[in-house]
This record gives sequence, C-alpha cells and structure tokens, in this order.
Amino acid sequence: MMQHSRGIMELRILGCSGGEAKDERLTGLLVNGAVAIDAGSLTLALSLEEQIAIRHVFLSHSHLDHICTLPFFAKNVFGHRSEPVEIHALPQTLDALRRHLFNDELWPDFSVIPTPDRPLLRYSELEPERACTVDGLRITPVPVNHLVPTVGFLVEDGRDAFLFTSDTGRTDRAYEVANGAANLRLFITEASFPDGQEALAEAALHLTPRLLGEELKKLKAPVDVALYHLTPGDRAEILPQIQALHHPRLRVLEQDERVVW
Ligand SMILES: [Zn+2]
Ligand SMILES: [Zn+2]
Repeated sequence: MMQHSRGIMELRILGCSGGEAKDERLTGLLVNGAVAIDAGSLTLALSLEEQIAIRHVFLSHSHLDHICTLPFFAKNVFGHRSEPVEIHALPQTLDALRRHLFNDELWPDFSVIPTPDRPLLRYSELEPERACTVDGLRITPVPVNHLVPTVGFLVEDGRDAFLFTSDTGRTDRAYEVANGAANLRLFITEASFPDGQEALAEAALHLTPRLLGEELKKLKAPVDVALYHLTPGDRAEILPQIQALHHPRLRVLEQDERVVW
C-alpha cells in the first residue's frame, strides 16, 4: 500500500461525474488514503486493500450519487478492521441512512453489527461550521444550498487547504469561508447542467456555467477552481460554456486525478 509522506496532503479524485456509466464514476474524494469525502465510487475506484485503509467517511448529503457505494464498501471491509469506520454527516443525512439504506431491508444495519458497542460503522453527527480533526486533518462542514440539508467541506492539514462545496445552487457561505481560509489551494465546485437548462438547475439547486460565472465573482482569493458533477450526456455542451467564462484558473476535475500539496 502506498504510504503517505508526512507533511504532504494528497487528494485523489475517485469519481467526479454527475452521472454513472462505464468509466464514469460518481462523486468521491480520498484524502491521504484514509479519509473519504462522499461515497459515490469507493468500491469502483479502490482496491480491497485501499478500501480497508479508509478510517473516516464524510458525507455531504444523502443523495444516492454521494452514498451509493457505502453498502458494498461496508461488506468489503467487514471482518478486516479492528476499529469502526466513522461515518461523519449531518443528523438528517445519518437519519436517511438509518431509515432508507442500512435498515435491515435494503442492507444490514452495520451500525450495530457485529455488536452495538463495536459496530463496523459508527455514525458521528456533524454540526455546520464546527471543525473536527481526524488523522491530522481539520475538516469544517460548510452549509450550502441544495435540495436536502447539505454541507461542503473545508479540509486543512495545517499547511495547505482545499474546499469542496458539494452539490449546490447559488450560495454565499462557501465563498466567505474560502475567502477567509489560510493557504487555500483549490476550490472545487459544481457545474451540473448546460446554460440552456438554467431553470432546471435553479429548481434542482445546481449550477450552470453562467450561474457559476456569477458565483465565482465572490471568490476573492487567487485560487485554482476545479469543477465536478457535469451531467455526462450534456458534457459536450457544458465544456465550451465553461471555457467561454475565460476564468484563468478554472478547469474541470478529472477522474483518478491526484493532487499533492
Ligand atoms: Zn445532490
Ligand atoms: Zn450529486
């Protein structure tokens, strides 16, 4: 297994698509090999050994494209870990997992298996704006504007930082937090739909390139911006619209990309 060097933060893009198809994975980031942010692609992008090395999973919201590999991930790592995997999410997101997914109907309730005292999955409630520290990373949930309660995450290792907004329509707080963050290296946000579908984007609380261009004016820090969650079938239409923004530090995130600071 790849060892992570001290003092370096590695961000690995497991999936960054707004839809799933062959070679097109749903949202998932992995930091330093041990901390996952969203679980749309854990089992598709990672070897069993790499999955077993994950100690923490932070979930931005309950939508399926951000949680859908959790059941198979749980089954894969069961019996291979002495400590639970901590699932960090808003109370509403954890409630959705309990009620609709790990409910002994769709999948076993791994929050009480093998025993309630030492379960495979341990749920840990996030509170917006309250940072938690895991594995040398300070992770701050930042509320954004989506159809269900959703947080982005500011991830800092004491030297470098990135901010992932997760799925969001127009929002302010993520930009305020980014503007106030020391050593912010990357701002990851979304561009789900082409400009011609702005009404849909507004209704579904997502962004188009045009809306994104307005949003990015709020970003005062000179920081690289990377986009995810493009709808696969609309990608050819969205890409030139992103280019037409003529933003010097804007690009589209790539699956399997590794960013090291
Ligand atoms: Zn969503
Ligand atoms: Zn999504």
